Amino acid sequence: MSLPISHPALSVADPELAALVGAEEQLQADTLRLIPSENYVSAAVLEATGTVLQNKYSEGYAGRRYYEGQQNIDQVETLAVERAKAVFGVEHANVQPYSGSPANLAAYLAFAEPGDTVLGMALPMGGHLTHGWGVSATGRWFRGVQYGVRPGSALIDFDEVRDLARKERPKIIFCGGTAVPRTIDFAAFGEIAREVDAVLVADIAHIAGLVAGGAHPSPVPHADVISTTTHKTLRGPRGAMLMSRASHAKAVDKAVFPGLQGGPHNHTTAAIAVALREAAAPSFRDYAHAVVANAKALAEALLARGYDLVSGGTDNHLVLIDLTSKDVPGKVAAKALDRAGIVVNYNTVPFDPRKPFDPSGIRIGTPSLTSRGLGTDRMPLVAEWIDRSVTAAAKGDEDALAVIRGEVAELLAGYPAPGLPTD
Ligand SMILES: *Cc1c(COP(=O)(O)O)cnc(C)c1O
Repeated sequence: MSLPISHPALSVADPELAALVGAEEQLQADTLRLIPSENYVSAAVLEATGTVLQNKYSEGYAGRRYYEGQQNIDQVETLAVERAKAVFGVEHANVQPYSGSPANLAAYLAFAEPGDTVLGMALPMGGHLTHGWGVSATGRWFRGVQYGVRPGSALIDFDEVRDLARKERPKIIFCGGTAVPRTIDFAAFGEIAREVDAVLVADIAHIAGLVAGGAHPSPVPHADVISTTTHKTLRGPRGAMLMSRASHAKAVDKAVFPGLQGGPHNHTTAAIAVALREAAAPSFRDYAHAVVANAKALAEALLARGYDLVSGGTDNHLVLIDLTSKDVPGKVAAKALDRAGIVVNYNTVPFDPRKPFDPSGIRIGTPSLTSRGLGTDRMPLVAEWIDRSVTAAAKGDEDALAVIRGEVAELLAGYPAPGLPTD
């Protein structure tokens, strides 16, 4: 199946670049995308990102701009803000952060001074770079103290979190992560943060769509600030939001602009508004629950094939596979899967004896395949493909990988992806 290049102006003006976009469309159509932070946005979200709104400069906030000509932009941003407040049930929303990392940096700027202590989950345990990890600006300019998970269960050790919080007295506590397959206990974090008078930032970048769709508990009653990207399970454009109680609204807004950023990306703001309208629809609740049901079904099928899963399974959209017992390093498996048309990323597992650039695990997730309409009935086949690919990787069997690639493309042809051209 060959997709038409869907951008006539671009194909005339810059055929070289247009060909690359077309090739990427083809790749996203034909491969099973299991990276848990990726998704397919709707055609409407995609269209909003490619509008003339991108031509505008509008530093400031609606009604308080430093530029004239904001008649439409103010309304666009207000729509996005009001929809965010309604979808997440928050008192305040700032939709201007350029992405998740700058959103988190704005939280530091709002609630801490350089050198202050912050408490976050260690990167190799499933946390994010921006939660105070050493190589990140957040770990260089602040004193990052890190909690992990229990050996064995791989669940967050709240005794450790409480002990560290009492001893280190962090200004900010971050919860949430990038490789956490289990429900985040926001209430437990909130209790600890209140006890030590820290600001609790719930970073729901990965699970925002599940929270919006009622498939993961909401941090709203427990967190002072909620940080999220808009492009992962929320299925919006690449962007981010900071949400908070009304009492923190000023501090959050000042930190984003003028503290950290200049003009907001208005085309992105528009697409966030569109995504939030979609997230408010009943069908998005179905989507969020289907993402989790698919992840659980996939985990079950992998367990049945003898795979070790970090924490033994999943409560959300992602599954972390520890390949140690299969004798295949994560990177080797990920590269073989890619050749089989199954796109994943290699990932550290808690207490990984291997190096971060060559770790023991792979991380997979169901947001994208669920957006294509695959259901739990297909998850045993997905597990079979993964298993056959890992086995082929161990044997260096390139022919087997090519066969799987064909099977994947054939099945996916029956599940057209949102936002991609169809022929
Ligand atoms: C993805 C992610 C981020 C960063 O988002 P970017 O848009 O990649 O900067 C921050 N925190 C968590 C938990 C994430 O998963």
